[in-house]
Amino acid sequence: MDVDAVPGVPGWFAEHLREGGIETLYPPQAEAVEAGVADGESLVASIPTASGKTLIAQLAMLSAVERGGKALYIVPLRALASEKREEFSAFEDHGVSVGVSTGNYEDTGEYLASMDVIVATSEKVDSLVRNGAPWIDDLDCVVADEVHLVDDAERGPTLEVTLAKLRRINPGLQVVALSATIGNAALLAEWLDAALVDDDWRPIELRKGVHYGQALHFDDGSQRELRVGSGEKPTAAIVRDTLGDGGSTLVFVNSRRNAEGAAKRLATTTEGRLTDDERAQLAALAEELRDVSDTETSEDLATCVEQGAAFHHAGCASGHRQIVEGAFRDRLVKVVCATPTLAAGVNTPSRRVVVRDWRRYSGDVGGMQPLSVLEVHQMMGRAGRPGRDPYGEALLLANSHDELDELFERYVWADPEPVESKLAREPAMRSHLLATVASGFADSRDALLEFLDRTLYSTQYRQGSDGVDNLERVVDATLQYLEANGFVRLGDRIEATNLGHTVSRLYLDPMSAAEIVDGLEDAADPTAFGLYHLVSRTPDMYELYLRSGDREEYTMLAYEREAEFCGEMPSEFEEGRFEDWLSATKTARMLEDWASEIDEDRIAERYGVGPGDIRGKVDTAEWLLGAAESLAAELDLANVTAIREARKRVQHGVGEELIDLAGVRHVGRKRARRLHDAGIETRADLREADKSVVLGALRGRTKTAENVLEAAGHQDPSMDGVRPDADARPAEAAADPGGGAGGGSRGGGEDDGEGQSNLGDF
Ligand code: ADP
Repeated sequence: MDVDAVPGVPGWFAEHLREGGIETLYPPQAEAVEAGVADGESLVASIPTASGKTLIAQLAMLSAVERGGKALYIVPLRALASEKREEFSAFEDHGVSVGVSTGNYEDTGEYLASMDVIVATSEKVDSLVRNGAPWIDDLDCVVADEVHLVDDAERGPTLEVTLAKLRRINPGLQVVALSATIGNAALLAEWLDAALVDDDWRPIELRKGVHYGQALHFDDGSQRELRVGSGEKPTAAIVRDTLGDGGSTLVFVNSRRNAEGAAKRLATTTEGRLTDDERAQLAALAEELRDVSDTETSEDLATCVEQGAAFHHAGCASGHRQIVEGAFRDRLVKVVCATPTLAAGVNTPSRRVVVRDWRRYSGDVGGMQPLSVLEVHQMMGRAGRPGRDPYGEALLLANSHDELDELFERYVWADPEPVESKLAREPAMRSHLLATVASGFADSRDALLEFLDRTLYSTQYRQGSDGVDNLERVVDATLQYLEANGFVRLGDRIEATNLGHTVSRLYLDPMSAAEIVDGLEDAADPTAFGLYHLVSRTPDMYELYLRSGDREEYTMLAYEREAEFCGEMPSEFEEGRFEDWLSATKTARMLEDWASEIDEDRIAERYGVGPGDIRGKVDTAEWLLGAAESLAAELDLANVTAIREARKRVQHGVGEELIDLAGVRHVGRKRARRLHDAGIETRADLREADKSVVLGALRGRTKTAENVLEAAGHQDPSMDGVRPDADARPAEAAADPGGGAGGGSRGGGEDDGEGQSNLGDF
């Protein structure tokens, strides 16, 4: 089908596509149009990676806007929200406004009311519904990207409940669900009352195979020699072979550490095969990477990139990831070693894909678990660049003949699994039931059951094999839990209590709220450490993992600081609870280190985490402490000021005396300390400060000093003719006082990088 032949979309769109090199629709796209996707019809499209799902979404959204409507695009990860927004920003030249909703859970995003297309994560949409965002009932079209993630235990339930709510609020809503190829796409279509496009067409042939011994074994039975040199690893041999052919390789591994290790090793393979021009361009990129953050991760990545290799995982800052993706697309970086985050959504095709690790550590089972067929196929689907390569090749690696057979059976010939709703899991059910009651979707048991009947869970599992109504069973158990903890009142009418309303609005797991309330009842005047521990042990915080040598250290710490805990420490005989308490103790101390101005790099080393992990914990702690503040105020529990202070310290990563200064834009934790050392202690001091002192404290950086003074509201921020006061200059390379809580390496020797608290972003 020619792009001009699509009905319903705005006139400029065909031209826009042609400019981007798209003349005709791919077959699954044409099927989607025939099914009415540009006519307001709901659709489930279950098609392989790289077969053009985004265009299907655009046809739906733009035709809805053309009819005067409003469209919402739901992405699975926050990192993808800005990427999609960027992708759709070309529409703005044609009068279609595009907004992205990120930010706080409590924000209703009112400015989005005027946008034609809105991009958001499912968590964000769920919270917008809870907080009554006025534009939610104006929606005409909703796109759910990567809808097979309804299978994900953590995030799936939110997606399915959100879709159910949006459909309930907007009768006649068009739902376009985009999925990787899965085993039960027809069931998703039944759930969403949608037409189905289920097709395994790909724009470029994909050859799947396994490397074993000295050869590649393909799914069509053919073999090709690929020799592994003595002392060479198979992955290196494949990368070398691909390079010989002018191609690049994407290597998927099962952990961040492995991604970094593999990239370092493979850099020795790529290094000798670069041209002088490539070397120069890569050196420039390495400098950009070093500027992103001053951590070891940043340095390691830059060193690999100089040699033509890179790693990519969720512990990298988003700036790192963008540079790496761009350089890989430009074929400057020859190999990227990634954890599966890259398989989800990011468009980085490559001649060859190697799925090096097909097992991954799982905390749930306490050991290595094979990846799902769906995941492996998604990674494999990244192979082959349409228009550039004759075909793509995706390879697994076998060490024995038995493993070769196993990999063929398990992955190469296997069909992807069906997706399964995880809504009945307790944390999901208690949060979503409470929210459904609190936001007025249902006020009785029957109404609740009727609403939940619109979920995938109900479509899939309501009727148990023994005639039991599974939905009734989980709903009754969950309602009892919510009543017992004071979140709802049961009777003919079911209503949320004030506490229940607050918890739902704050987007807390009710069990987290119960833990926080209990803890605060026990501690009228909590310390920051006590509060960090309290929020760290809620189910909303992903605690730091307790390594084998940690147990003793954190047991000692827990006894030393027992008086500070909000709530009673479990006994050592309560195995599971005690272990959890120690993990929370470790997490709390990491937060305390951060709030005591310990260097990011040192924290990363001390706790064995990346900059992205620190950012994640800090953000979560800030949110949970904000929630604790609201709960304490509402129930008149503990000292609200103490909670606020602990939250601000974690937010800015500073000691108490710097909270005020660090809150000034462009200041941040390190500069705040330098200014304070030079005698400027508050925002008010800064406004009136002697400019030469400010300039001295900020190491003579004129532009920074001007930005800081302007942000503080100084009358005349210009630094023209101002000379830095030498006495205010911070001491260089001050010795690290040795860390420890409250000790504080104040970052004396580090460079004054732009991002003052440059934690990685997700
Ligand atoms: P998916 O989301 O299915 O993995 P994308 O939507 O990212 O795939 O599309 C993959 C690539 O194919 C993109 O670079 C896109 O521009 C290109 N593409 C999509 N549709 C067409 C088409 N009809 N003709 C040519 N290229 C297309």
